[in-house]
Amino acid sequence: MIVLLTEKMARKELVEYGRLLYDRGLTYGTAGNLSVRIDHDDLLITPSGACKGFLIERDLVRISISDGKTTGGGRPSIEVPFHTALYKHRKDVGAVVHAHPRYCTVIAVAGIPLRTGLTPEGVLVLGPVPLVPYETPGTDRLAKKLAESKHDANAFLLERHGAITVGKDLPEAYHRMETLEFAAALQVISASVGEAEELTKREMTRILTSIGRQKQ
Ligand code: 13P
Ligand code: ZN
Repeated sequence: MIVLLTEKMARKELVEYGRLLYDRGLTYGTAGNLSVRIDHDDLLITPSGACKGFLIERDLVRISISDGKTTGGGRPSIEVPFHTALYKHRKDVGAVVHAHPRYCTVIAVAGIPLRTGLTPEGVLVLGPVPLVPYETPGTDRLAKKLAESKHDANAFLLERHGAITVGKDLPEAYHRMETLEFAAALQVISASVGEAEELTKREMTRILTSIGRQKQ
């Protein structure tokens, strides 16, 4: 369930997780954007063209989820359309992280599926990860393609672009991005030492029913 933060707390959290995303090498330059839902119709999002490692609280921009219009602050991320689409379609989403992590982007450029079934963590934390067909960044068309892909996924790869994770809050969305990049790195690196097999369907079900239930 989503627990809404006050706007002040949400600004603080966005600055902290933006710094973490950049410091941990999950995004680089000015790539990526983060947002948090602060009430039924409002979100806070990072400004366009800023390095996520050096944001300050007043840089964040307030947006109406229903029409995507700015209700306070400067120039928002160009990816407002896909952030608002996710909040509109998913009542379970309280935060969205978009980044261009190195190995996720290698897989997204190759246009191959991410194999989350290689480890129990991939099955449990990520589940199936849709590969959203390429569209120009910042467009309504990209938001539409994202909304049309598996609607309840925790993570998505954007073909030739990068990755998106969602969560009930920013810590959850952020940790899913770390896990996603680990899974992508594992897939790319393990391919150089041999053919890695995914866990069996039976074991995946066992993981989801036993460990998944304990974690709830
Ligand atoms: P913004 O700086 O406008 O958020 O754009 C970065 C990005 O990654 C676009 O996909
Ligand atoms: Zn991007």
